[in-house]
Amino acid sequence: MYRLDIQHLSKSYGGGVQALRAVNLRVSNGMFGLLGPNGAGKSTLMRILATLQEPDSGRVLFDGSNIHEHPHALRSRLGYLPQDFGVYPRTSALQLLDHLALLKGLRNRKERKEQVLALLQQTNLYEARHRAVSTFSGGMRQRFGIAQALLGNPSLIIADEPTAGLDPEERNRFHGLLSEIGEQVVVLLSTHIVEDVQDLCPQMAVLAGGRVILQGRPTALAADL
Ligand code: ADP
Ligand code: ADP
Repeated sequence: MYRLDIQHLSKSYGGGVQALRAVNLRVSNGMFGLLGPNGAGKSTLMRILATLQEPDSGRVLFDGSNIHEHPHALRSRLGYLPQDFGVYPRTSALQLLDHLALLKGLRNRKERKEQVLALLQQTNLYEARHRAVSTFSGGMRQRFGIAQALLGNPSLIIADEPTAGLDPEERNRFHGLLSEIGEQVVVLLSTHIVEDVQDLCPQMAVLAGGRVILQGRPTALAADL
């Protein structure tokens, strides 16, 4: 059982933009949905949780450890699925995944290869493994994003608007894949699409103007949305 504890997190940018205002959230195993309109502060929160950015104040504990005091400890257990997965024009999906696995510290060549091939199968990309990711459709790219986020068996997965730009069928496939993973680890999913949260997340919060304005079960909140 893992727990992510977000305490009084604040972050502002130049020009007086206060992206996060004393955000408190407590998340345990399973999928947690972070719903909010554009500009709500979702990406800022996700980048802070992925230790790509530091908060101005407040702290984040994962499994009891402060992630900004011990970023390396977190990064080895983190899967990050950014809004846009970087596209490398000439590298095959297999090569790219293998390279990302190496960066994640999977040093043993044989184990790395096994894990990479298993993930390509799990995300339904095995047949396409020799193609460059830049030639993939939107849905395939998102599935590649999941595959790379799962390298090294992370205990925390941060997914920033993973269904943006997918058609309904691709979104369904993506939902199926995410809910398979969702149980054993903490998955934080940010989205502005209510259905993503309703379909996938037993717990959720609504972020608006940098504040958590609602938190609870999607069914209980449906009337307020
Ligand atoms: P969301 O992901 O919910 O759209 P963001 O975290 O991207 O929200 O943005 C929250 C607010 O912070 C917005 O007003 C946005 O313009 C601003 N913002 C985000 N990133 C930066 C940045 N790097 N520099 C300045 N302002 C930013
Ligand atoms: P989001 O969907 O998260 O709102 P954006 O398109 O707003 O994404 O932001 C894309 C990138 O631009 C992010 O790295 C974000 O930090 C940065 N950004 C967003 N708003 C601003 C801003 N007002 N000034 C500078 N950078 C910004």
